[in-house]
Amino acid sequence: MHHFDYKAGRLHCEDVDLGEIADAVGTPLYVYSTATLRRHANVIANAFADIDCLIAYSVKANGNLAVLATLAAEGCGADVVSGGEMMRAIKAGIPPERIVFSGVGKTRAEMALGLEQGIHQFNVESGAELETLSEVAVGLGLKAPVAVRVNPDVAAGGHPNISTGKQGDKFGVPWQEAENLYARAGELDGIHVCGVDVHIGSQIGDLDPMRRAFVKTVDLTRRLRDQGHKISRIDFGGGLGIPYAAGDAPASPADYAAMVREVIGDLPVQVILEPGRVIAGNAGVMITEALYQKPAPDRTFLIVDAGMNDLMRPALYAAHHDVLPLSAPDENSRNAPFDIVGPICESTDKFAAKRDLPPISPGDRLAFLSAGAYGAVLSSQYNARPLVPEVLVDGENYAIVRRRPSFEEMTQLEAMPDWLS
Ligand SMILES: *Cc1c(COP(=O)(O)O)cnc(C)c1O
Repeated sequence: MHHFDYKAGRLHCEDVDLGEIADAVGTPLYVYSTATLRRHANVIANAFADIDCLIAYSVKANGNLAVLATLAAEGCGADVVSGGEMMRAIKAGIPPERIVFSGVGKTRAEMALGLEQGIHQFNVESGAELETLSEVAVGLGLKAPVAVRVNPDVAAGGHPNISTGKQGDKFGVPWQEAENLYARAGELDGIHVCGVDVHIGSQIGDLDPMRRAFVKTVDLTRRLRDQGHKISRIDFGGGLGIPYAAGDAPASPADYAAMVREVIGDLPVQVILEPGRVIAGNAGVMITEALYQKPAPDRTFLIVDAGMNDLMRPALYAAHHDVLPLSAPDENSRNAPFDIVGPICESTDKFAAKRDLPPISPGDRLAFLSAGAYGAVLSSQYNARPLVPEVLVDGENYAIVRRRPSFEEMTQLEAMPDWLS
C-alpha cells in the first residue's frame, strides 16, 4: 500500500504532481510520501497493540532526518548500526531510551557514545565485543543493557547477500555457544543482561523461516531464565518483505504479529522489532529522465540520467524495481522492451533488462517504485556525480529534505598538499 498514483494522467505522490517536483528540483531525485511512512508505522504498531512492544525503525533503510522525524512523531524508536546513525536518530527527535544498537563491529568510541546517551540496548554479536563493552562501561562507571544476538542457523531473505542468520554468516553468536556467553555476561562488571536478539535477513516474504528462528530464540530465552538470567526482552529484528512487483505477496504485518504472539505465548517479555524496508520501501520513488535510446543488434538501451551510484540495489543484488512513466501512457500505445541503463562507466550500471515500457522519448521522466528503503542511503558520488537529492511530500506540500550539493561542496573536504599548491 502506498500513495503514488496517476491522477488526470500524471503520476502523483499524495496530492503533488511528481513532474512538478522534478521541474523544481531536477533529476535524478528521490521523493518520499509522509502518508505512506505514517501508514506503515501504524499498521505495524496496531498489529502489536495488545503486547508490550518497541518498534525500533531500522535507520539504515532510510536515515534521512525528515523521514526519521516523521517516524519519531508516530512513536517509533530506532535500530542503529553505527554512532552516526545513533546521532541521526537522536537529532531527529528519537529518545535514546528507544534506541537499540546492532552491528558486529562497534568501536569503543561508539560504545561510549551509546552508554553516555543512555540507549535502551546493545545487541552484542561476539564474546570479544562483550568483553570490550564491559571494559568501556566500567571505565565510564555505567552499566550496558545487553542482548546477545544469536545466529539460529536458519536460511532466509530475498537474496543470499541479505541473509544474515545462517551458519557461516558473520552475524550473531553461533547458536551452540549462546548459553556459555550468557554465563560469561552474567559475571562481567558493567554488563546488565536483559535480552535475547535475533535478525535472520531481509526481504523475507515467507513466515516459516522466521517462525523457526523465533521458536529457537524463545526456547533459548526460557532456558536462560531457568538458569537465573533476568531476560525481560526479546528483539526479533526486522526483515519482513514488501511487494516489489505485481504478484509478490509477502506475509502481512498482521500475520507476522499473530505468529510472534503465538511463538512467545505467555512469556513475560517486551518485544522489540526492527522493521526497515516494510516501513520505508514503498514510501519512496526515484525519478529519472530519459536521455537517449541506443539500438544494439539484440536490444535497445534506454539511457537515463540516474546511475547505480544513485540506486544501487539492482547492481548490488539484482533487485527488481517497477518503472512507471510520470505521464500515463496512451491506452493505444504498444510496449517495447528496453534495457534501462545509467551513465556510469560500469557494466553493472543497469536497472532492468528487457523491460517492457510504453514509447519513451528523450526528456520523458520515469519513476522507479519501491525505492524508499536502501535507496538514497546507499548512494555515492562515484564518477563525481552529486549526491542525489531527497524530497518529502505531505498532502499537497513538499520540501527538499536533502538538496543536491554544488561542485564546490563536493570537493570541499579535499585539500592540496603543500608540494602541489
Ligand atoms: C538491516 C537490519 C534490519 C532491518 O531489516 P529490514 O529488512 O529492512 O526490515 C533490522 N535489524 C538489523 C540488525 C539489521 O541489520
